[in-house]
Amino acid sequence: TRIRPSSKRCAVIGGSGFLGRHLVERLVEKGYSVAVFDIAQRYEVPGVVFHQGDLCDKQALLKVFKDVSLVFHCASPSPACDDRNLFWKVNVEGTRTVIQACQEARVQKLVLTSSASVVFEGIDIKNGKEDLPYAKRPIDYYTETKIQQEKVVLEACSKEKDFLTVAIRPHGIFGPRDPQLVPILVDTARKGKMKFIIGDGTNLVDFTYVENVVHGHILAAEHLKPDSPLCGKAYHITNDEPIRF
Ligand code: NAD
Repeated sequence: TRIRPSSKRCAVIGGSGFLGRHLVERLVEKGYSVAVFDIAQRYEVPGVVFHQGDLCDKQALLKVFKDVSLVFHCASPSPACDDRNLFWKVNVEGTRTVIQACQEARVQKLVLTSSASVVFEGIDIKNGKEDLPYAKRPIDYYTETKIQQEKVVLEACSKEKDFLTVAIRPHGIFGPRDPQLVPILVDTARKGKMKFIIGDGTNLVDFTYVENVVHGHILAAEHLKPDSPLCGKAYHITNDEPIRF
């Protein structure tokens, strides 16, 4: 019989990224043993093992998942890269490969970083709940692949197979080492391109502090059990109040 790996042995796919690194650091603080799987290694943390590889490569994933009971999947091509084939290949097909590798390696839990944009069609949403339908006309192709990715992960949740999944949906994420949001805002402002208002000035947009996003991921992982209502569900994650923009 196979001895189950400790529930504190986990892998973070995309662990070299902005969110992934914060997640890795917090998991280490909480006593998890962490393996990072990413196409690039960008930092070092004592005790964390890095594996360089593409999540579309099942054999590479299997090597890392061998003694792991929990996988966080927070890898994605940058939304700015504008490469449709790459979005589909990594976010949809690659995520299917991640699921297959998890099941073959008998990983018990998969936590996906999805996006709140999966329910956004360009029409204002206030206090949106998780029962909103997926956008029929997503705002861009990246988001279209995030929808497919989330569906694939949530549909794979199976108590019979002893494989449980959950998705966390942040909107904008900010915090230390943010490579996109604040730097782009500052850059745009410096170029004098922010001297106009979209809408009537009362628009709200949701940003979440990165540590809160990390907290949501870890809570989801720790509460994901065969009898819990989290199984196969997606959760919006936010700060207390949206920010006036
Ligand atoms: P990021 O670009 O900083 O990190 C993504 C990581 O994934 C990078 O380290 C990259 O090397 C890795 N990666 C990309 N393709 C890969 C592949 N084929 N195989 C292995 N690794 C690969 O992005 P982030 O801001 O940390 O975003 C993390 C997740 O959160 C993504 O799924 C993104 O869709 C989601 N998200 C981000 C935001 C935000 O505001 N940053 C908002 C909503 C959702």
